[in-house]
Amino acid sequence: MAYEKSIAAFKEAYSVIPGGVDSPVRAFSGVEGTPPFIERGEGGYLFDIDGNRYIDFVQSWGPLIFGHCDADIQAAVIETAKKGLSFGAPTTLETELANEIVSLFESIDKVRFVSSGTEAVMSAIRLARGVTGRDAILKFTGCYHGHSDSLLVQAGSGLATFGTPSSPGVPEDLTKHTLLATYNDILSVQQCFEALPEGIACVIIEPIAGNMGLVPADEAFLEELRYLCTKHGALLIFDEVMSGFRASLKGAQGISTVKPDIVTLGKVIGAGMPVGAFGASASIMKHLSPEGPVYQAGTLSGNPVAMAAGLTSLRKLKSNPSLYVTLANKAKKLMQGFAHAAEVVGIPLVTDVRGSMFGFFFSGKQVKNFDDALANDSKMFAKFHKGMLDRGVYLACSSYETGFICTATTDEMIEESIKAAYEVMAEIKGA
Ligand SMILES: *Cc1c(COP(=O)(O)O)cnc(C)c1O
Repeated sequence: MAYEKSIAAFKEAYSVIPGGVDSPVRAFSGVEGTPPFIERGEGGYLFDIDGNRYIDFVQSWGPLIFGHCDADIQAAVIETAKKGLSFGAPTTLETELANEIVSLFESIDKVRFVSSGTEAVMSAIRLARGVTGRDAILKFTGCYHGHSDSLLVQAGSGLATFGTPSSPGVPEDLTKHTLLATYNDILSVQQCFEALPEGIACVIIEPIAGNMGLVPADEAFLEELRYLCTKHGALLIFDEVMSGFRASLKGAQGISTVKPDIVTLGKVIGAGMPVGAFGASASIMKHLSPEGPVYQAGTLSGNPVAMAAGLTSLRKLKSNPSLYVTLANKAKKLMQGFAHAAEVVGIPLVTDVRGSMFGFFFSGKQVKNFDDALANDSKMFAKFHKGMLDRGVYLACSSYETGFICTATTDEMIEESIKAAYEVMAEIKGA
């Protein structure tokens, strides 16, 4: 494939935008080549400015469960936009979308809309701290919850459970309140509660982790986590910004029986428009301004055009109960194809599927936590990614991301992608 125009566009972007991108992962730093600059999308396909066509398994990093340019969502957006783009005043669209979410999630009586997943999580954490009157929070290594200060932490060198900043610009005074535990390891959580028995405001987790590759939490682990949170008076936050409406209609909560205290949503909820949300029981949400003292606000929060996109998308999802089975079958077929291609040439590969989400690691060992994920062969992934891209298959440009199937992903697209995987694996092995 030719990438001349994208290479030139990237160079030009680089001169006026740091790294040439507005979100670091887009820069292709972990893989070979430069990122294709996108001209347009159509269903399950993406077209770049050089005229290359790709089967899109990234789908804007999750939001586009109906693929690109879904006619119903586009019509709703256009109709709403004709009436005005933003009012900074309440609209009934917000209540309608809130009603859809409340009816889906047992754990949510009330929900507030924001404009990104980062904002949803940041606000949920503030709410948890406000409700409990505690400062410390607990997160899991390898889970991503957006780029707010308290959550940009890595394991410290000293006491392993207390975090240190993972980015310059984040004060240690802030990250010292964030404890780190190991995904799927309840003993590591217990140790944190022992270190601060009555100090932890909340435990935040991706119940199906999608930001260290696809790594689902064990049901028993989630049950024990729920037990420990309740026992110690900490709130349990499920960050379902990615898994919400992706793993199932109710996200992880449609698969697990464990109920969180607070839920954060994003990505699919806006169908490609900037929307995030956080919700909880009425007794927790009443602490939020203006009902209560915990402050949170947003000029463009509940933006009507974004609400219309989300509402149309959610109603379409709800009206088709077999949709997630179909999506999961396609994801399984793709992963079985990749796994077989790897097996044939003798490359270790493990795969997983949750609803419309799929993940694979070049590793011989099932991945349970971030350390396991890090043990994957990321150099081999980089080669695989490049080979697939050159054959018109657009996969996330990092081995620590999740892939997505949309309703516009056809069986033919899956078969074409599997065929490409056979070729690329053979090429890698032969090299
Ligand atoms: C993407 C993501 C976020 C951040 O959402 P943005 O809209 O990128 O700010 C937070 N949590 C999880 C689990 C995510 O996948």
